[in-house]
Amino acid sequence: MPKPPETVREQIVRCYANLARAHAALGRGDHAYRRIDHMIRAKLERRLLDGTMQMRSLYDDERIKMTAAQACCYCGDADNLCADHLIPKMRGGPDASDNLVWACRSCNSSKGARDLLQWMAAKRQFPPLLLLRRYVKIVARYCEAHGLLDLPLDGLDGAPPMPFDVRWLPTSFPPLDRLTLWVRPK
Ligand SMILES: [Zn+2]
Repeated sequence: MPKPPETVREQIVRCYANLARAHAALGRGDHAYRRIDHMIRAKLERRLLDGTMQMRSLYDDERIKMTAAQACCYCGDADNLCADHLIPKMRGGPDASDNLVWACRSCNSSKGARDLLQWMAAKRQFPPLLLLRRYVKIVARYCEAHGLLDLPLDGLDGAPPMPFDVRWLPTSFPPLDRLTLWVRPK
């Protein structure tokens, strides 16, 4: 077992590296990890931590949003859509297009002022990987811009308030057969 993350940066990187591993396997349609997937994760984690690699920008995520069929990113419904802040604006979530996703009225009001991870945890669901990827990138960008990456996780309660809690970022994922890349349109 790898040692648990101790800083904001380690938490973000652990989550992102696990995402990359799951994305590689699911992208092939596999139901089990291959050795290469574990290698991808290990290399990414090491290089993101030592600074020889950077997380990718949100360009790919925005491109998917522009080209995919418009549907609620939480349930796949195509009716009664509105723009939803992944990290709620009222908590200080960025008012940028990266933080905006399509949601149906029902999911939007059920989610309310909670952020993606808080709301999904309450529903005992794990977010689709590409939605989680967008979320992690926004969190990473925010923490970098505000100089928070090297804060110890156990000192966060005394830190300036953030629009999210990085400790909610999943650092271990459910088995592959319980993960999806993206919600299936209804
Ligand atoms: Zn919905």
